[in-house]
Amino acid sequence: MEQTMVAARLHALGTPMTLDTIPIPKPRPTDVLVRVKACGIVPNMANVINNWPTWFPHQPLPKFPAIFGLDPAGVVEQVGEAVINVKPGDRVYVSPLRSCGSCKACRAGKRSECRYYTLNGYFSTSRDGQRIFDLYPYGGFSEYMTAPEYALVNIPDNLSFEQAGRFGYLGTAYGALKNAGAASGQVALIDGITGTLGVASTVLGLAMGLTRVLGTGRDERLLERVKSLAPDRIEVMKLGEGSAGDWAKSLTGGDGADFVISALGAKAPAATMLDSMKGVRRGGKVVNVGGVAEDLPIDVKWLMDEQVHLIGSNWFTTAQGQEMADMVGTGALDLSYLEHRRFPLARVNEAISGLKDRDGGFSNYVVMP
Ligand SMILES: [Zn+2]
Repeated sequence: MEQTMVAARLHALGTPMTLDTIPIPKPRPTDVLVRVKACGIVPNMANVINNWPTWFPHQPLPKFPAIFGLDPAGVVEQVGEAVINVKPGDRVYVSPLRSCGSCKACRAGKRSECRYYTLNGYFSTSRDGQRIFDLYPYGGFSEYMTAPEYALVNIPDNLSFEQAGRFGYLGTAYGALKNAGAASGQVALIDGITGTLGVASTVLGLAMGLTRVLGTGRDERLLERVKSLAPDRIEVMKLGEGSAGDWAKSLTGGDGADFVISALGAKAPAATMLDSMKGVRRGGKVVNVGGVAEDLPIDVKWLMDEQVHLIGSNWFTTAQGQEMADMVGTGALDLSYLEHRRFPLARVNEAISGLKDRDGGFSNYVVMP
């Protein structure tokens, strides 16, 4: 096997990544070495490598030079001596969620509640995150990376590496649906249905048996495109043309949706989310997975009277990732709506900055190292 590999590394904020030749790492006993075939680029990546330390100083980046790349998929090349269920040749998605593995949350299988919660190749939510980055310094913009066995999702042959490179946001949507208690026969209201998380929530929700998905967005062409995914089960409304909450109630005999997924962008006004929340039924759930730009002034008496649950959600468990992969394997989940824009590693900077031209949640930008 070769001794060196090419990785795109960021040496300073606001500068382009450079292609550097570095040694191929050796996996530790509980880790594997993955030959990266595709790595998805999320819309937020440009913010992370340009603005994160200014915007969110409590969420540190890995120290430089750093290898970014949040959503890698590839083939297992080597396994450490303590790896039990994975073998060389396995096709995998590598979930970037890293945690300490030994705190109470981790031991309960709730790694996203760990104090060390770190997204490999992206940023940490912990001031002590560098401890995790030191253990896993290789993101997906690299020919090879190491990863712990606990982070691997086995992907079936009919799930392409490009599609697997979208698993981060698909899984984020799936985790939100799970937190909403989504089940067959229910009605969902998805705020921001045309975006990456919105389209993903729609496709996954339909696969999970929702009878109807109601969605709001700003772009009429993209709204029609989302509706065309399942015209009999999807209804759409343009934001700004009346109250989304009233609209959802009018389409459900006055009851409201069983749950609301708020997948608005981080720059959205709070008023948009507040309005959509009012479209949930008594006892329903409102799951925020996108954030809004401001604090939310919530009428807690309404929350109490209607027994509404307001839930924050991010990322997903590796087991949930496996559920999605298995749904693709059986054909229950169809990811053919994704339109791939493929870039070689040498064009990673162009790929990251080109994302603003994407076609809502339908475009899938992937780097192929
Ligand atoms: Zn932990």
